[in-house]
Amino acid sequence: MSRGQPPEFLPSSAGTAYVIRAGRLIDPETGTATSDQYISVKDGRIVEIGPNVAPSVGVETIDLSAFSVLPGLVDAHNHLALTYKKFPENDVYYYTYIQDSTAIRAIQAVSNGMQMLSSGFTVVRDLGNNALYVDSALRIAIEQGWVPGPTIINSGIIIGGTGGQFHPTPEMARYHSIVYPEYLEADTPDEIVKAVRQNVLFGAKVIKIMVDSQPYPYTVEDMKLFVKEAANAGGLKVAGHVQTEEGARRAIEAGIWSIEHDVALNDELHKLMAQKGIWRVGTETPFTEYSSTQEEFDRRVVRMKSAYANGVKMAFSTDADYYVPGMSRGQVVIDFLKTWKAAGIPSKEILKIMTTNGCKVSDIYGKRGPLKPGFPADIIAVNGNPLEEIDSLRNVSFVMKDGLVFKRDGVMTPERFLHGGPVNGWRIW
Ligand SMILES: [Zn+2]
Repeated sequence: MSRGQPPEFLPSSAGTAYVIRAGRLIDPETGTATSDQYISVKDGRIVEIGPNVAPSVGVETIDLSAFSVLPGLVDAHNHLALTYKKFPENDVYYYTYIQDSTAIRAIQAVSNGMQMLSSGFTVVRDLGNNALYVDSALRIAIEQGWVPGPTIINSGIIIGGTGGQFHPTPEMARYHSIVYPEYLEADTPDEIVKAVRQNVLFGAKVIKIMVDSQPYPYTVEDMKLFVKEAANAGGLKVAGHVQTEEGARRAIEAGIWSIEHDVALNDELHKLMAQKGIWRVGTETPFTEYSSTQEEFDRRVVRMKSAYANGVKMAFSTDADYYVPGMSRGQVVIDFLKTWKAAGIPSKEILKIMTTNGCKVSDIYGKRGPLKPGFPADIIAVNGNPLEEIDSLRNVSFVMKDGLVFKRDGVMTPERFLHGGPVNGWRIW
């Protein structure tokens, strides 16, 4: 057990054992499936997978013989502690920061995390705009064993030049009293180092920067310093919000880990990203009655096709940070399948992007995600075959996280995740 990390074997999962009978076991990495398989799970981890796993005495068998069984899904860009609304703020999130306290947003984040888990998302990369380190608190609460939720890879406060992503009034900028928990200002090399260290100190697992949201974008040298300082702090990676072509070009040259959002990307930039192995976390909002426009969507689909054709490393990602009446956060997220389908990407490729690629961009692939012995049992089940029809992911009926059953027969069963103390240890931060 390294410093500040959850123990390898979680006490909250200790003593539990299940055998899962899978009608169709899917390996998203190879895009293949095998029928009639058994997965034995003990103490939160997968022990054995095969057609003839011997049932041990007293171990419960979970019968998923009528289902496809597969690894949990990943949303590589979400904001669990931000939920702006049509009413009262007219979806202007600037106002959400004024009316929702850090405390209420922390409670929203717990709920949003559970909603994501219920939709099969066992990993969420949570990239800022989470008030005063709500994302760290949520990750820690989940890892310590207070509440159920996905594995969180969180950024802490987004780092940007003066003003961050916003155009605050001079009053706000001067007193740093409103809006400011959302952005950590770093304009000079010293400030960049300091900001990275502050985020690491307060629990960030990835560094998120605003590359070019002000008329004074970060330079290539600035971003190289971010990359160096993040690497120095336990090997963290740098995710860059990019909205201009020039910003993208600089970010690619600096060798950041991932470009967040697709708006600035084009065929030429995709070629450069593919060459350098930079992740594309496109947050491709679909056109629906509650989001985007046909024109925006058409351009987005063209960009996605270009990225796919150029072999860019792509992640399923949403930027979900709003409320749609009648939909859970998980349902808002899974609706992004519309964009991937419109781009003509085959179901089995989308599934690989949502699982294998998600764990890779989250930089946890060697520790979590694939269904194989020794790995945490993060397992979901759906009706139908997502290798052929990706929309079958819209109906997740079973979710296991760290070897504990979170959802069964379409109903959340969170009891085993709730504890009256930090059952996995309080030295997790
Ligand atoms: Zn975002």
